[in-house]
Amino acid sequence: MKKDKTEKIREILQSAGLKNTLSRLAILEVLSELKQPETAQDIHKKLKKIDLVTLYRTLTTLEKSGVLRVVDVRKNAVHYELDTNHHHHIVCTDCDKIEDFENKEIEKVLEKIAKKSKQFSDIKNHSLELFGLCRNCA
Ligand SMILES: [Zn+2]
Ligand SMILES: [Zn+2]
Repeated sequence: MKKDKTEKIREILQSAGLKNTLSRLAILEVLSELKQPETAQDIHKKLKKIDLVTLYRTLTTLEKSGVLRVVDVRKNAVHYELDTNHHHHIVCTDCDKIEDFENKEIEKVLEKIAKKSKQFSDIKNHSLELFGLCRNCA
């Protein structure tokens, strides 16, 4: 592990008010290298020495502290990613491809919808995923 990377991961834990533990550091290192959200099973394959129970427990802690985001891509298991820049996903329904996208217009529209609601006054977050076939699968 490069030193600046370890530093960054320690900073993430610190600002979330979490202690540095070996399992948290190892799991966050794997998560910071992911190119798209992945399942706990797939994350587990990239980790040596950490059992699945510890992984699930740590993922839950990291999610509750706002370090991780759970992404529902309508597959058999939820996917995880670091909660850094706000974005959305386009998901292939045939293979594992997931693409990120950001759109300021969408964010404005969602804000308007939240403000207009008669029954909700405190919309905390949102998720938005598009589903279809990637170019390889189409
Ligand atoms: Zn595909
Ligand atoms: Zn958004």
